[in-house]
Amino acid sequence: MDIDIAIIGSGFGGLGAAIQLRRKGFTEFLIFDQADDIGGTWRDNTYPGCACDVTSNLYSFSFALNPGWTETFSGHREIWRYLAGCVDRFGLRPHLRLGHEIQEAAWDGYQRKWLLTTNRGTFKARILIAATGPLSQPSIPDIPGLKSFNGKVFHSAQWDHGHDLTGRDVAVIGTGASAVQFVPRIQPRVNRLRLFQRTPGWCVPQVTRKRTRAEHWLSTHVPGWLRLNRTLLYWSYESMGVGFMYPRINRIAQRVAERNLRRQVPDPRLRAKLKPNYTLGCKRVLRSNAYWPAVTQPNVDLITSGIKEIRPQGILDADGTEHPVDTIILGTGFHVTDSPVTQRILGRDHLKLSEAWTPTMRAYRGTTVSGFPNLFFLLGPNTGLGHTSVVIMLESQLKQVIRTLEHMRRNGMETVEPTAEAQRRDSAEVDRKMDGTVWTAGGCHSWYLDSTGRNSTLWPGFATTFRLRLQTFRPNDYLFQKEDSRELAKR
Ligand SMILES: Cc1cc2nc3c(=O)[nH]c(=O)nc-3n(C[C@H](O)[C@H](O)[C@H](O)COP(=O)(O)OP(=O)(O)OC[C@H]3O[C@@H](n4cnc5c(N)ncnc54)[C@H](O)[C@@H]3O)c2cc1C
Repeated sequence: MDIDIAIIGSGFGGLGAAIQLRRKGFTEFLIFDQADDIGGTWRDNTYPGCACDVTSNLYSFSFALNPGWTETFSGHREIWRYLAGCVDRFGLRPHLRLGHEIQEAAWDGYQRKWLLTTNRGTFKARILIAATGPLSQPSIPDIPGLKSFNGKVFHSAQWDHGHDLTGRDVAVIGTGASAVQFVPRIQPRVNRLRLFQRTPGWCVPQVTRKRTRAEHWLSTHVPGWLRLNRTLLYWSYESMGVGFMYPRINRIAQRVAERNLRRQVPDPRLRAKLKPNYTLGCKRVLRSNAYWPAVTQPNVDLITSGIKEIRPQGILDADGTEHPVDTIILGTGFHVTDSPVTQRILGRDHLKLSEAWTPTMRAYRGTTVSGFPNLFFLLGPNTGLGHTSVVIMLESQLKQVIRTLEHMRRNGMETVEPTAEAQRRDSAEVDRKMDGTVWTAGGCHSWYLDSTGRNSTLWPGFATTFRLRLQTFRPNDYLFQKEDSRELAKR
């Protein structure tokens, strides 16, 4: 089947792209998702306590504000309902192709089309928008003996709700953003909780509460109130970005977390194990009022020596102690800098995106890649954030995509890709800005860094700087091919 635009992914990225394309008159598109439902992150992550950690009114589309949020930081179900509501509100259902896994997307330079192989047949598309998510492929650690374990094992993004944890001996491997949300929820139910921590994280207080009736009333009855609230939230989150760019400032914020730790963890030995030795922000900042208190409970053991191997009945730590458990929950994060989907995208001369991104991911403005015509990658390299909502970044990228497509439509261009020089220049500027930020100078090794030690995931600045940067469209930075020409040319 021949289509104009193929979108891979039905999370915030894919749905946002579809909404904006329709608005601008690009109506011939399909949204493919390997799963049988829409929602991406918010369909897959259903663990107890799963919620956004950026306020809902900012962690949503600016063009689809939601007066109905019931909580300040909404749970996964409510966010999923919001996305499903967007599908209906913007008439996207007929465009959905769920249960369609893209097994390969290969650029055919002769036809000037992307050839998509799915588990349900093949498709051809002029434009490919990959919204496959930076945190969508669970990372399963390669721990010796994991396969020999006799009990239940699952990743936090594939929570097994049929497996009742009441009275069980549970091991949690990993203490990142997901574990911080589910540990306080499961701790009261389990018999023993063994928490395997590699590196501790800074945890700052977060006020999660129901929105008041007054807030609901204002949101629904006072025109502009919701937008004003979002604007205030936008700038208050943006102001927190300063500390990430100038780590000295984050050391001040760190004192709040230190005070929190002292108050919530009275035992000095436990406190020492939980206290990070790097600057706040270097690794993802954890937000919870309940995590550290949960770790102090008598049925919790914090194990920091490392894991030597997993045995059929338990976990052997590096000190030689075996911890008997019947359930292992992997809070071990995602493939971020080595996403398997990049092995399935083949550009000019059949170059795999994974190869183009070895040893490090680079793109022009985080969105287009030299050698990959008519491909737009949402939340691509250096578009993540440590301090505010990535939906802001997505929306900036979408504006860039639409501008490029409009330019092509106006000028009869059939293909587009950034020049190698523009990509190199753009990427060098990102690296320059990254220098001296908390991610490079904060004294930690985080999942933001790839195997070369380069931070290829985060944007080293304010979301506003990214927005401004993407507001300009520079035709000279691209190579275009006219509909009737076989030559690559600027403009
Ligand atoms: C638990 C959790 C909490 C988070 N909280 C926040 C937060 O508070 N604030 C924030 O800014 N960010 C947060 N994030 C980051 C989050 O990933 C992004 O905010 C956002 O949801 C990404 O949307 P996306 O559409 O790009 O990707 P996703 O939502 O991951 O969607 C990608 C989609 O692509 C599909 N897909 C992938 N490969 C294929 C294929 N080969 N064929 C077909 N379909 C495919 C997947 O099935 C999936 O549906 C959180 C992430 C997690 C995991």
